[in-house]
Amino acid sequence: MSQKYAAVKGMNDLLPPDIAVWQHVERTARKTLLRYGFHEIRTPIVEDTALFVRSVGEGTDIVGKEMYTFDDKGGRSITLRPEGTASAARAYIEHAMHQKEAVTRWFYMGPMFRYERMKTGRYRQFYQLGVEAYGVAEPAQDVEVMECVMHWLQELGLKDVKLQVNSLGDETCRPAFAARVKEYFEAHREQLSPDALETLSKNPLRLFDSKEEALKPLIAKAPILFDSLDDASRNHFTEVTRQLSMLGVPYELNPRLVRGLDYYTRTVFEFIAADPVLGTASAVGGGGRYDNLISELGGPKTPAVGFAMGLDRLALLLNGRSDALQHRPDLFLVSVDAAAHDEVMRLARSLRHQGLAVEFDARAGSVKSQMKRADKSRAMYALVLGEKELAEQKGNLKPMREELPAREVQLEDLARVLKGLG
Ligand code: ATP
Ligand code: MG
Repeated sequence: MSQKYAAVKGMNDLLPPDIAVWQHVERTARKTLLRYGFHEIRTPIVEDTALFVRSVGEGTDIVGKEMYTFDDKGGRSITLRPEGTASAARAYIEHAMHQKEAVTRWFYMGPMFRYERMKTGRYRQFYQLGVEAYGVAEPAQDVEVMECVMHWLQELGLKDVKLQVNSLGDETCRPAFAARVKEYFEAHREQLSPDALETLSKNPLRLFDSKEEALKPLIAKAPILFDSLDDASRNHFTEVTRQLSMLGVPYELNPRLVRGLDYYTRTVFEFIAADPVLGTASAVGGGGRYDNLISELGGPKTPAVGFAMGLDRLALLLNGRSDALQHRPDLFLVSVDAAAHDEVMRLARSLRHQGLAVEFDARAGSVKSQMKRADKSRAMYALVLGEKELAEQKGNLKPMREELPAREVQLEDLARVLKGLG
């Protein structure tokens, strides 16, 4: 008996026709990011486990519960990347980018892996597009990356995504705030789950990022970091919000926004889409400033800011447009007999070399079944070739969409006509 295989739980096949939405999202991203001067990098899908533990942070859900970690055959601990910033930072340092240029602007796209409880918009292999800008400490950099995402979302026609911003302060003011938060939650210990108690002992600020419903009322009354920001962080944040307004980028302040990773300093932001197709997974992306990460990983002190967008969730938001995004061949060639089939193959080859998208059924078969394939292919036109057409070297272009006119065409003129020049 043969074994039935299925994809690993939480990991999806992306197939046509749905893939068209993904390609649209990626194409639009590449086009938009190039306008901003971000350049693509591709890093390995695995890294040393220690890189993620050190950068993402020990107290986070990602490191604590969600990483795919294993020993390779050489006994090294390896982890499937759960996010992209750590890998990019590692590459930035490894390639001594700071010696090559004062400012480095990268983006990456690819699969990430987290062992999470699955639901709509939450998978174990998912895809992110991320941007990292290194070397600029000024608020204008935070603003430019946020504005860049809004631009991309606008190009995608996603107008209902909200930008939320907050400041987490930095190493000078955060410890005192963390102590106040700890004190606050300690005073309400009896309302905390065992999980929450553990977070409280490891990293109290993480409690703001908890997905436990029961914690929400407590979080709502907790102290707000903004009140404890020192002057430098406060000025930075004030300037960020001023510049967002100056550019007309709509945003909301969310004083409870902390994000799920430890490396952020000062600005953090998130993109929220309140669309029911996302279920509870309403954050389509997020990011922030991380001025200490590069130095903590052994590089020179380098300010940086970036974001990561979840492509699975963007694809869910755009699924309704899948139809309009499907590829349409210019022509589907149909043969009546074996001699015509040779001509179909020859003609298809020639037209394809002239830049046209042309399909035919390699099985030949009945005209009826070929026409069915033509219809399924979504081609603009079909052209049936038989003895008469070969003899006269002309045929009838049959429109497969009502709004196109039918017309007779010399075979030698086909390319010109299909290109709309004849
Ligand atoms: P969430 O709060 O939804 O768990 P997160 O804070 O863990 O998100 P980040 O690590 O900041 O998310 O990743 C950025 C984006 O990547 C998220 O906003 C989301 O769109 C996407 N993402 C994160 N985890 C998953 C997942 N398991 N499946 C699908 N998309 C994901
Ligand atoms: Mg998460």
